[in-house]
Amino acid sequence: MTQSTTARVGRFHQGRLSEGRPQVLDAWRITTDDVLVATRVASLLGGHAQQNEGGGGLAHEVLTNRESVRVLMDGPGAVTARMVLWSSKGIIHDCDGSAFLSPQGKKGQPCGCHPRLEDKKLAAREGRGPMPSIDLTFRIAAAPMLGAFHFMTSSWQLTAQLSDLMEALERVGGPAACDLTTELVALTTKTGTNVCYRKPVVKVLGNPDIVAPDPPRTAAPVPDPKPSAPRRRSKSTYESTTPPTPSTAEPACSVSVDAATLRRAAQVLGTSDHQETVIAALSEAVARRQQTVELARLREHVGRIAAIARQALPDGDSSLT
Ligand SMILES: [Zn+2]
Repeated sequence: MTQSTTARVGRFHQGRLSEGRPQVLDAWRITTDDVLVATRVASLLGGHAQQNEGGGGLAHEVLTNRESVRVLMDGPGAVTARMVLWSSKGIIHDCDGSAFLSPQGKKGQPCGCHPRLEDKKLAAREGRGPMPSIDLTFRIAAAPMLGAFHFMTSSWQLTAQLSDLMEALERVGGPAACDLTTELVALTTKTGTNVCYRKPVVKVLGNPDIVAPDPPRTAAPVPDPKPSAPRRRSKSTYESTTPPTPSTAEPACSVSVDAATLRRAAQVLGTSDHQETVIAALSEAVARRQQTVELARLREHVGRIAAIARQALPDGDSSLT
């Protein structure tokens, strides 16, 4: 794993700060200091270039509508990964999982971390061991001339995937087209608690000469067995000056097809078509009740509900903007 020295024009994020609180987003957020880059990113990936009020230090942000972005990664050197433990005095453990990376005097010496990932995770959770610190550098495949972007994460899932990722990048032997996805995970813990989060996934597709620079934008599902339709709650929270009202979210369990209601919901939720509106309304209500399992089940029916909505509404009312 080498330290990338490429200057980066912007950064991908899975979340942002909203009124001082961390907020997980349903699609990639991209920040940059270059307003022209922000404008171009918005035209490619959706959203608007706007002043960054969500944290990260760069001047502009774009809340895209993409869960997955096709990118170009230039070999294994595009991945930097280390394990770091911080204290109030700074970094107190910096290793590659088995040997120290710093300070210089200890570099290469065994660091004492557990060999198994699960044990590393437990040690980190208890504050005894370091956390992953991964930095991916890439260009957007549809607009490589914009320059290099990066994404920083401490995801254990991506850590577990790292050696496969590096091997796959090595096999391509040059810039590799990859899909960078912020994937929804919904699960129930052993204690019965429903948990819902997003994990970053990198899928190496191959040589960019034989891979399309942008995934098809049809309604076809992503080649993934799990339903992961984008929720727009986070974006609408940012964009709308009108907070979603309880009455908007309440009909989640008895969706009635009504043009006026759908239009009003779309305005409040910031959605652009029937399916997104239904998804957003269901997500609001179900998330509020913390019924993650119910949410996953309802998501499977959203496409059918949206189809019914489309059939029930006149053609001229198909755009709810
Ligand atoms: Zn270590």
